[in-house]
Amino acid sequence: MSDELIVFAEEPQRQASSEAKGSLRPWKVLVVDDDRDVHEATKFGLKGLVFMNQPLQLLHAYSADEARALLTQHEDVAVVLLDVVMETETAGLDLVRVIRHDLQMTNCRIILRTGQPGYAPEIEVILKYDINDYKNKADLTRTRLYTSVTAALRSYSEMVTIDTSRRGLEQIVRASSELMSRHGINDLANGIITQLSALLGVPEEGIICCRSKITEQDEHQFIIVAASGKQAIKAQNARPLEDPDIKQMLQRAISEQRSIDDEHACVLYFPSEMRDDILLYLDIQRPLEETEHQILEVFCSNISVCLDNATILDRLHNHAYFDSLLDIPNRISFANHIDKMLLGQSHNLMLSLIDIDHFSGINDTLGAQSGDELLRLVAQRLTEMLPAEVFVSRVSGDTFGLLGPRSLLEPARIKAGFFDPFSLFGDELVISVTQGYYQLNDSNLRGNDAIKRANIALKRAKTIVRGEAIEYTQEIERETHQRMLLLQGLRRAYNDNELFLAYQPQIDLRTGQVTGFEALMRWRTKNGTMIGPQEFIPVAESSGMIIPLGKWVMDTAMADLVRLEQQFGLKLQMGINISSLQFRHPNFLHTIRSRLDRLEVSASQIEFEVTESVAMMDTENVREILATIHEYGAQVAIDDFGTGFSCLSYLETLNFDRLKIDKSFVDKMLDEHTSTHIPEMIISLGKDLNMQVIAEGVETLEQMEHLRQLDCDQAQGFYFARPMEFSQLQKWLQLHLAGD
Ligand code: C2E
Ligand code: CA
Ligand code: CA
Repeated sequence: MSDELIVFAEEPQRQASSEAKGSLRPWKVLVVDDDRDVHEATKFGLKGLVFMNQPLQLLHAYSADEARALLTQHEDVAVVLLDVVMETETAGLDLVRVIRHDLQMTNCRIILRTGQPGYAPEIEVILKYDINDYKNKADLTRTRLYTSVTAALRSYSEMVTIDTSRRGLEQIVRASSELMSRHGINDLANGIITQLSALLGVPEEGIICCRSKITEQDEHQFIIVAASGKQAIKAQNARPLEDPDIKQMLQRAISEQRSIDDEHACVLYFPSEMRDDILLYLDIQRPLEETEHQILEVFCSNISVCLDNATILDRLHNHAYFDSLLDIPNRISFANHIDKMLLGQSHNLMLSLIDIDHFSGINDTLGAQSGDELLRLVAQRLTEMLPAEVFVSRVSGDTFGLLGPRSLLEPARIKAGFFDPFSLFGDELVISVTQGYYQLNDSNLRGNDAIKRANIALKRAKTIVRGEAIEYTQEIERETHQRMLLLQGLRRAYNDNELFLAYQPQIDLRTGQVTGFEALMRWRTKNGTMIGPQEFIPVAESSGMIIPLGKWVMDTAMADLVRLEQQFGLKLQMGINISSLQFRHPNFLHTIRSRLDRLEVSASQIEFEVTESVAMMDTENVREILATIHEYGAQVAIDDFGTGFSCLSYLETLNFDRLKIDKSFVDKMLDEHTSTHIPEMIISLGKDLNMQVIAEGVETLEQMEHLRQLDCDQAQGFYFARPMEFSQLQKWLQLHLAGD
């Protein structure tokens, strides 16, 4: 045993530094002996002993009973100097049993002393009761006593350390499993302060901050994640840390890249590759003890794992509520936010959905990467142009959701926000948006239902006023609902063969002979009600159902045309209406080709009727499609001609075969008040451009006569015949042919 740790009290420096720390917790040494002289000698012998910066405090007992009483009061007695023979011959050993067995003082060191060498206890007893030392009283010189007590103190302090560590570890294990169950950094941070304070036995006075890696240039920016006790009063969560002293200490921990402590506080430092650095400041009002340092080390590495896990959970949470592409809230958080706002005063709040017009086209032509970039730029523009109180989110693909005071979300203002072009990888792109909005007025509504309402308005706006805005009304919802029912009905009708074609004859105005028919779709429900195409065709178009329906029309009309030719031996025309959705469909040419190829009559007898809106599409593209149709041998007419208010220059570049004068012009033609020369103009236009002209909706003899005088080629209308089912048409044709 070396004496290096035995420090004499006279040594002024050490003592001073110990006192300065104010932590002179003395070692308690109990002297048990019925001989007063021994007490005095021991007191003298140990005078001034300081071990590991702590002095001694002697306790005196003159009998085993007294000793027992003292030990009960002082459970932190470090060493007992125990006389073997006192009241009885075994009083000393009996007390040992009490200390170890009854009082469960396992750390306390026991030095037995005896006046007579013959009274040495047996080895067995020494082992059983963990007796440290056995000394003959005569041996107790000052140096011997020092050496012996110091050795005992050292052993005691080690045992206490081990004991504390063990308890600390147990606590850490318990604390970690408690902390593991916490979700999210904030919750976890609060738990860490609680657990750590308990571990160190200090009040909960702490702050947990994170230092954002992004704002690294701003070195002093620590954001408070959690705070408790007095610190909670001084600081608010999610705010930058203000206290200069704490800030300085955190800064020091970062520059030294480790946890640090001083007389009042400690700072634990949790760096990580995967998340922001986290720092914990704990106001402990005393220096940490050596054992506590070790415990903290273990604690820190455990907590680091907890923090990383919490970060992953936070990310998952973010993933569920944030749009990762645009870094703005998603539909779920939009709905949650609406719910929250509805709970408060929802007065004058507007929910607005913003949809980018023709986004899929942009995506197709410029590529998905540009599409993503455009979405990002739109999100950015919305966030920048709207005040912070407007909630901006991505609701779906190219639809953004806004929530804010009505005055801030005026549709005209939003629309104007998109006038400036977007710069997309160096190209300037001008886009427009369509808006559907809903004034929140029903606080019983849930966020998702509110979004649905705005979406009903948006869908309506997209079908009838692209680029503009429509506000939700119950009327629109009813209509939308009706349309949905109609669509369901139409699907069923198609499967149940409730659809059929009616054919309306077309007449040569010079000869009065039938030249062909127009095929018109009809829907007769099971109970016999007729539903007009004006009603169901728009629904079929907006739902895309017009594509299969259109194919069915072609198949049926062509088959019927073949039957008529076989039956009557006449070469007749068949007009088939093609909606612009069909015409624009990438498979359109393939669809008609496969049918024309196997048609048993000449392809030239088939005429596709398209409206002017088709001609308004990309001219070059339309020109090619028309050329291909002509290559297949079929013809194309412009339906409802003159109603499109469009510039007619396309007629010179696009090669159509026939113009169909719209019924509205025929109606007004002979009316005194509204008489119009449009049919006349269309007829001469047709002559100039070498196109046939047919007038639609001819209902009277006068109209027919007038059109004949204008040299119109053909006519179609109730005056000649109504659209008829096939069987009726066969009869009509028989009569018609017989009559002439
Ligand atoms: P449309 O192509 O302009 O068809 C002419 C419409 O005028 C037909 O109405 C026809 O019944 C009606 N009509 C013909 N002559 C007269 C007349 O003298 N007086 C009056 N008042 N009306 C007359 P319908 O059958 O109700 O069809 C309406 C529209 O539905 C069609 O207009 C066409 O745009 C669309 N449609 C009908 N069948 C189909 C089809 O198979 N495919 C597509 N894509 N659209 C179709
Ligand atoms: Ca037509
Ligand atoms: Ca028409």
